[in-house]
Amino acid sequence: MAATMEKVVSLCRRRGFLFQSSEIYGGINACYDYGPMGVELKRNIRDLWWESMVRARENIVGIDAAILMHPKVWEASGHVEGFTDPLVDCRVCKMRFREDEIDPEKRKDGRCPHCGNKNALTDARQFNLMFKTHMGPVEESASIIYLRPETAQGIYVNYKNVLDSSRLKIPFGIAQIGKAFRNEITPGNFIFRTREFEQMEMQFFVKPGTDAEAFEYWKEQRMKWYFQLGINREKLRLHEHGSEELAHYARAAFDIEYEFPMGWKELEGVHNRTDFDLSRHQEFSGKDLTYFDDSTRERFVPYIIETSAGVDRTVLTCLIDGYEEEKLEKETRTVLHLNPKIAPVKAAVFPLVNRDGMPEIARKIADDLMRRFNVFFDASGAVGRRYRRQDEIGTPFCITIDSQTLEDDTVTIRNRDTMIQDRAGIRNLLQIIGDRIRTESE
Ligand code: ATP
Repeated sequence: MAATMEKVVSLCRRRGFLFQSSEIYGGINACYDYGPMGVELKRNIRDLWWESMVRARENIVGIDAAILMHPKVWEASGHVEGFTDPLVDCRVCKMRFREDEIDPEKRKDGRCPHCGNKNALTDARQFNLMFKTHMGPVEESASIIYLRPETAQGIYVNYKNVLDSSRLKIPFGIAQIGKAFRNEITPGNFIFRTREFEQMEMQFFVKPGTDAEAFEYWKEQRMKWYFQLGINREKLRLHEHGSEELAHYARAAFDIEYEFPMGWKELEGVHNRTDFDLSRHQEFSGKDLTYFDDSTRERFVPYIIETSAGVDRTVLTCLIDGYEEEKLEKETRTVLHLNPKIAPVKAAVFPLVNRDGMPEIARKIADDLMRRFNVFFDASGAVGRRYRRQDEIGTPFCITIDSQTLEDDTVTIRNRDTMIQDRAGIRNLLQIIGDRIRTESE
């Protein structure tokens, strides 16, 4: 049986993937804490992204910008203007208005100032998407500062620093993983939409005119990344933004969507942002952000292709996609079919019984494997139950020390998905587990 959101939420809580934030105080809406298993899964996902987007590419580098930025950044980006107005929508013509700009008389009967339909306006929604706070001890308007609602701006404002301090030439990219905060009006669906979340973003700087080609390339590359993560291909699709969805500055935009239990939803955005961002920062900062192309002697403001993914949404996708309640002959087992590369625990080590020197051998094996992998040692309960506990958290391999080990220094290795066991020598375990993680991840 496939996953429902309730089942995944329950597993996450039971097995230490995710807890509600400040739970002992009754929790705080739409904020979650990663537990011991969740934090490993999340780290592994981040690492995999970094590996494929930064380390494996000569023309992409990383940065780690501060969350707090100069308030002018958010003016230049359009967030101050676009995210803080009391907005009303017209249900008929879909136009949007600032509530304080509509004639209060008309507002009374909900008349749309554009199409004139009565009772057409929705209630006002305060789009305080940016969290505001103050810097320094005095709370005055000059000290207002925002928690960043996206990591992208940290990249744009550092574009020149990176360019001047490296030998990169266009086309090149800058990547960043970090927290972002949005005072979402409708958070929900577990960690799908929260007010504090993490993004993995890459901004690729290209010469205008080559943007369409780069856009196609990144669309494909990013889909491939999810395939490599082992996500069911049939549950992934690309959705193109129509003209009504497209941001005013964007030339083209696609969402990579996954079929969550609540329907097809965005997992990542791939956007052609044109020269909007750098032009705006150039205008607001007064700094020259043009690029000089040595080979053609041309100067231009680069276009930007953005790939913007959510770490938490990827975690949720992996959990939902991997969850299975599998009917066996006598029982049902819950198993998380996580790609071994992102599984929180790579191998569990069990002594079959707690005597005859088996626990000591198991301990030694666990200590040895721990040098390279996250390993779990478990000597309590029937071995079948120990396997089930590992299946539930997605541990790909269970190593058991039994009476044959005492005779020939071999152990059993059980595969999570097939439940097949084979024997291998203790001496080569580090190598064998490493190889199997690699081959089973492909
Ligand atoms: P949505 O339409 O779902 O609100 P968005 O179009 O506002 O998303 P972007 O600004 O493109 O999202 O952000 C890029 C990525 O960051 C999203 O694809 C998603 O994975 C992640 N993300 C955005 N907002 C949230 C949130 N509130 N909680 C968790 N992840 C988020």
